[in-house]
Amino acid sequence: MQTKTQLEDLQNYLSDASNMPGGHAEKLFVPENQDEVADILREANEKRIPVTVSGARTGTVGGAVPFGGWVISLEKLNKIGSIDKANLHAVVEPGVVLADLQKAVEAEGLFYPPDPTEWSCQIGGTVATNASGARSFKYGATREFVTGLKLVLPNGEKLSLQRGSSIATDGGPIELNTDSGNTITAKIPTYERPKVSKNVSGFYNAQPLDAIDCFIGSEGTLGVITEIELSLLPKPEGFFSGIVFFPKNEDLLAFVEAAKQLSFGTRTSVSAGENADRDVRVPLDATLIEYFDERALDFISEKFPETPTGMAGAIFFEQETTAATEDKLFEAWNDLLERHNADIDASWFTTTDQDREKMRAFRHALPVSVNERVVRNKQKKIGTDMAVPDENFPGFLRFYKETLDASGIDYVIFGHIGDCHLHANLLPKTDEEAERSRHLYGRFVAQAIMLGGTVSAEHGIGKLKSKYLYVMMGERYLNEMAELKKAFDPNGILGRGNMFGPELLK
Ligand SMILES: Cc1cc2nc3c(=O)[nH]c(=O)nc-3n(C[C@H](O)[C@H](O)[C@H](O)COP(=O)(O)OP(=O)(O)OC[C@H]3O[C@@H](n4cnc5c(N)ncnc54)[C@H](O)[C@@H]3O)c2cc1C
Repeated sequence: MQTKTQLEDLQNYLSDASNMPGGHAEKLFVPENQDEVADILREANEKRIPVTVSGARTGTVGGAVPFGGWVISLEKLNKIGSIDKANLHAVVEPGVVLADLQKAVEAEGLFYPPDPTEWSCQIGGTVATNASGARSFKYGATREFVTGLKLVLPNGEKLSLQRGSSIATDGGPIELNTDSGNTITAKIPTYERPKVSKNVSGFYNAQPLDAIDCFIGSEGTLGVITEIELSLLPKPEGFFSGIVFFPKNEDLLAFVEAAKQLSFGTRTSVSAGENADRDVRVPLDATLIEYFDERALDFISEKFPETPTGMAGAIFFEQETTAATEDKLFEAWNDLLERHNADIDASWFTTTDQDREKMRAFRHALPVSVNERVVRNKQKKIGTDMAVPDENFPGFLRFYKETLDASGIDYVIFGHIGDCHLHANLLPKTDEEAERSRHLYGRFVAQAIMLGGTVSAEHGIGKLKSKYLYVMMGERYLNEMAELKKAFDPNGILGRGNMFGPELLK
C-alpha cells in the first residue's frame, strides 16, 4: 500500500469539483484491498484521527475535501470482479470508474442506467452519494441498482450487507452483525421525506428501511465501501433521442408536462382520458427529459456553434425502442412536438449510438463549460440542487427566473426537468455579486423547503451545504442523524464535517 505525506503528492486530494478552498491533510493512503482499509481505520480510530474517503473527487459539495487528518483514496481498488450476464449482476470494487463499468457492461450486451453526467466518477463515489442524473427519470438513482455492499466501519470492523437481509419496520432500529459477529443497533431518524422523486438530503430513512440503504447516500460518513454488487438490465434494442428547440417557454413547459404524463401513464397504466395528452394512445416512455434555458444554449454554443439561436430553451429526451415500436414512437414524439410548437426543423434527432454520444456530450458540455469559465475567470459559482414536488415546479421555475433576472447576476438554468430538479448556476463577477448570490441561494432554499421540496436532490450535502440541511431539518432531526452516525462511528472520525458539524457528535 502506498502512503504519502509530501504536499505535492497530496495536492490532488485536497479539493474536488466544488473548488472548496482550504483542504489539507497529513497523510494519504492508497490501499489495495479491504484488509488494508481496515488496518488504516483501526489505527485512525484508536488515535482519533479524522479520515476522509476520496473517490474521483468529482463531487460538487466538498464531501471528499479533507480538513486535517488522513485521506483514503480508493483508486487502487479498481477491479471489476465479475459481470454475470445470465443473472444481470456485477461485482465491482469501489474505485472502478463509471465510464469503464459502462463500457464493460455494454460489451456484454447489458445496461447500467445510472448516469450522473460526469463519467469519470468512481462507482464507490456514486454509491456514497446515491448519484442520479438524467436517466433517473425512468430508472431511479444508484440505490435502485445496489444489491450488496462490503464496507469497513470506522473502527476497522468489516460489514457485509445484502439487500433484503436486514430490514427495520415500524420505526424500529436497524440491527446489524459485523463480519466478526458484533451487533450494532442504530435508531432510524424520524423525519418525513419530502414528496419529490429525487432527494439525497440526509440519511435515507424510508419505512420499512433496508439496512443497506442507510449506507447508500451516506456521503462517506458511516463506512468505507470496499465492494459493490449491482443489478444490471439487458441492453435496450435501440434508443431514439432528440434535442428539441422551442421558441416559446410556455410551449416547452407544456411539452415536458405532456411527455411526463404519457411516460408515467405507460409505467403505471393510468387510464387514458385523465387529460388531453393521455388521450393519445402511444407507448411513450422517456428515459430522460433534460432542460436547457436560453442562457444555457448561449453558453453551450461556445462548444457547439451549430446550436440554433433565438430559442427560449431546449429539451433533450431519450426513449428506448425496438424494431417493432420504432416507427410508431418516432411518429408519437413528432406529433407531441408539433402540438407543442417545437421548431422541428432546427431540432436534432438520432437513433445511432454515435450521435447519441454527441447528444450526451452536448448535455455534459454545459456544466463543464460553466466550471471551466469559473476557473478561467477566477469567478465563483453558486449552484442549486433543489427539487420540489411536481405541482409546485412551474411556480418554482418562475421564482428562479424572475428573481435572477431582477438581480442582474449572470446565471444559467439547466438539468433534470423530468424530475422537477433543475440546477440554477449563479455566476457572480464581483465580491458584491457573490454576496448577493449567496443571499439569493438562501432564498431559493427557503422557497424550495416551503414548497415541500429538498435542498439537495442529487449532489449531496457534503461540507458546503450543511447549513442548508440545518434549515431543512432543524436541530431535532440533525440530532437524530448524529445519533445514527454515532452508532457506527462513536468517535466521529469518518467524513468529518459532511452533512453536519462534529459538534453534534459529542
Ligand atoms: C460536470 C459534473 C456533472 C455532474 N452531474 C451530476 C449528476 O447529474 N448527478 C449526480 O448525482 N452527480 C453529478 N455530479 C457529481 C458527482 O459526479 C457525483 O456526486 C459522483 O457520484 C461523485 O463520485 P466520485 O467518485 O467523484 O466521489 P467523490 O467526489 O470523490 O466523493 C463524494 C463523496 O463520497 C464519499 N466516497 C467516495 N468514495 C467512497 C467509498 N468508496 N466509500 C465511502 N464513501 C465514499 C466521499 O467521502 C465524498 O463524501 C456531477 C459532477 C460534475 C463535475
